[in-house]
Amino acid sequence: MRKALVVKKNYNDYMQFMDERTREDMGRLVENLRGKSIAMVNATEFGGGVAEILHSLIPLMQDMGLDIDWWIMHGEKEFFNVTKAFHNCLQGDEACLEQETIDTFFKYSQMNAQKILNWDYDFVVIHDPQPIGLVSWRKAPELSHWVWRCHIDTSAPNPAYWQFLQRYIQQYDAAIFTMKEFVGEGLDIDRLYFITPPIDPLSHKNIPLKKEEAQRIIARFGIDSSRPLITQISRFDPWKDPLGVIEVYKIVRKEFPSVQLALVGSMASDDPEGWDYLYMALRRAGEDYDIKIVTNFNGVSNLEVNAFQTASDIILQKSIKEGFGLTVSEALWKGTPVIGGNTGGIRLQIEDGVTGYLVDTVEECAEKVLTLLRNPALADEMAAAGREKVRKEFLITTNIYRYLMLFNDLMQS
Ligand code: UDP
Repeated sequence: MRKALVVKKNYNDYMQFMDERTREDMGRLVENLRGKSIAMVNATEFGGGVAEILHSLIPLMQDMGLDIDWWIMHGEKEFFNVTKAFHNCLQGDEACLEQETIDTFFKYSQMNAQKILNWDYDFVVIHDPQPIGLVSWRKAPELSHWVWRCHIDTSAPNPAYWQFLQRYIQQYDAAIFTMKEFVGEGLDIDRLYFITPPIDPLSHKNIPLKKEEAQRIIARFGIDSSRPLITQISRFDPWKDPLGVIEVYKIVRKEFPSVQLALVGSMASDDPEGWDYLYMALRRAGEDYDIKIVTNFNGVSNLEVNAFQTASDIILQKSIKEGFGLTVSEALWKGTPVIGGNTGGIRLQIEDGVTGYLVDTVEECAEKVLTLLRNPALADEMAAAGREKVRKEFLITTNIYRYLMLFNDLMQS
């Protein structure tokens, strides 16, 4: 385990996103937590939604005067193969839970736990299944509050994996899920909280970019801004359905021969499957040079993701399962219309036909892409409604508020 490095942020800059009453409430809740310390733990510092959130949440909470650290658990390939299998099976894959998988999981939990033996944090928030086992080594349960935060879609999990995980979840004082449908069967825990993940409106990924500037940035990847562009920004992962997105593009191209597709993906250090799916997508794209597949290894960083989200005509997030899908809110915040898979947390962000479209199949997705490409005014209207929804529900300030309420709540328990 090691502490993650974060770049300082200024809480005052975020006051503009809150009303007077919320600002006052936040001040009071922080005051109650004076003298208390908090640790958050996850498996990777870069790549994927959890790292994205913690890079904003941790420095902002520090700047509010809270004593909070972010720890990254140590893992190697064998461990991340196991935890990716956990991720897939918790989202419904049918693989068997082998003893070898359990042994590897236990080995890394125990190895990382050596670091926590002398921890005296008042609150510990463990993100996702990778570090969930640390709870077995918690010191003096009456002196601290441990919370497990689930970011994945566990609405229809593989029962063997869910039961295995449940034995750990029940050692926690509380669990947070993104939505009620994700609470697996039979979970017996005193406190359940429902919190949606947030985007940071002032991060490099989300600050306003002029359209011309965004177009100039993505031109570096061969995008021609005089032609329509559809983009999906995701890890290369079966649940994100990058191959389905290529099929959508092929249908759309029949009516809009000038359309371009960008698949933009980051390779997360805790996602060993990513390379396989990247190569699969490259093979499926073949020699169609209007499909651009780019990653952090081609120079895609936060600003470039921002530019793709700002300059695309449509953003797709055609997931088959999705814990939340930050990319949906990120795009809506920029006023870009989104078509998302009709699943999990995407349903919280897209109200079908109002703030975007929800789709179940490749054909339906292609049809909605065509609808939006033919009706720019409708696309703008939906995107504006989407941006308003994000402003009300999915900004980082709301997320901090929820955590502060949760810690205050636990303190009184
Ligand atoms: N992301 C990125 N670069 C990429 C692809 C994704 O920075 O090339 C970011 C994306 O903008 C979002 C996060 O990674 O902030 C992905 O979060 P999401 O909730 O959509 O999916 P997850 O990867 O957590 O399943």
